[in-house]
Amino acid sequence: MATNGLNLVYAIKDGAGISIEDVDSGSKCGCFCPACGEPLVAKKGTKVMHHFAHHSGSTCEYGYETSLHLMAKDILSRTKKITIPAVYVEFPDSDRSPQLYRAAQEIAIDRVVLEARYDNFIPDIALYVGSKVLFVEIYVTHAIDSSKLERLKREGISTIEINLSKKDRMITEQELRDILLKVSDEKTWKYNVIADKIATKIYTLSELKNLDDGIYVNNCPVKSWLFGKNINADFVNDCRECAFCYKYFFTHEEEGDIIRSLLCAGKERIAEIEDVNIPTEKRLPKRNAEIEAWKNNRIDKRICPLCGARLINRCSRYGCFLGCKNYPRCTFMAYRDAETGQRKMKV
Ligand SMILES: [Zn+2]
Ligand SMILES: [Zn+2]
Repeated sequence: MATNGLNLVYAIKDGAGISIEDVDSGSKCGCFCPACGEPLVAKKGTKVMHHFAHHSGSTCEYGYETSLHLMAKDILSRTKKITIPAVYVEFPDSDRSPQLYRAAQEIAIDRVVLEARYDNFIPDIALYVGSKVLFVEIYVTHAIDSSKLERLKREGISTIEINLSKKDRMITEQELRDILLKVSDEKTWKYNVIADKIATKIYTLSELKNLDDGIYVNNCPVKSWLFGKNINADFVNDCRECAFCYKYFFTHEEEGDIIRSLLCAGKERIAEIEDVNIPTEKRLPKRNAEIEAWKNNRIDKRICPLCGARLINRCSRYGCFLGCKNYPRCTFMAYRDAETGQRKMKV
C-alpha cells in the first residue's frame, strides 16, 4: 500500500507533536512535517477527514509513517503506560496450537525514545521498563523482515508490532491511543523473549527420536512409563497427537516431505509449558497421577490404553479379565485382584 495518498493528522509545532484537532485551520497553523520539515496547511473542512497537507503541494514519502511514530511516542510519553499483548508460546513444525503463557496486561513505562539507534537497530519506538527495553514497530508499508527478526532474537529484544497495513485511511489520534492502551488485534508480539526462552527450554529438555522406516519410535518414553517396559510408538497413531511431542524434523524426498525424527519431552514429562517451571521431582509424580487417572478412564470406557483398540471380556482358567481386541498383537489386560478387588494392569 502506498502511503503518499495518506495525509498527516499529527505534526510538529513549536518543537512538539500536535494533533490536527488542536490547531487552527489554514496555513497559519504554524505546523511542520515531522519527516521532511516542510510547512504544513491544516485542512479542517467539512467534506473530508481533518488533515495536514504540505504547503508546497508535495507528496511526502515518509510523512504519514513518521507522523504515526511521533503520535505513538507522544501518547506513550503522556500516559506512561501501554497494554502489552498476551504472550503465547508457539511450537512451529508440530501439531501443537499456541499456548497462552500470560494474558494481555497494562505495564508502566519509564521512558519512551523515538527512532534512536539502539545497538544495531533503529526501532520506531523504544520503551524502557526498569532495566529492560522493548521495541514497538509500526507497520504501515514494511513489516519486520526475517533478517531483522533473526537479529532481534539474537539480541533478545522483545518487539511489539502494530499492524496498520490493512487500514487504507488515516489513523486518528484516538484510534492509535486505543490500539496502544487497550487490547487490540492490530497489536501483537513479533518476538517475545519469555515465549522464546520457554520453547527453547522445552526443546533442550526433549529427546531427539529418530523414526525407523519413517514411522516407528523405539522405546517410547510415555508407553515405557505407562506400562513399565520398552514399547515402540508409531508416529501417526501415537506421537502426532501426543502431549509430549514438540517438533518434527522433515527430510524432503521426491515423493514429498518425510518426517525423519522428532523432539519428545516424554522422558521429562513436559506436557504443558508450565511444566518447565516445576522442579523435576515434583513434575514426575504430578504427571504419574494424571496418567494413572487417564489409564483408568480409558479402561472404564473399554478402550485399550496401550493401543486404542476395544477391550473385551475374556476368561481363562485364572479368571475373567478385560483383554485387548488386538491380542496377540497387543497384550494389554486389566483385571481385579482377587483379594483386594483393586484394578491391576498387565502387558
Ligand atoms: Zn513531509
Ligand atoms: Zn491394545
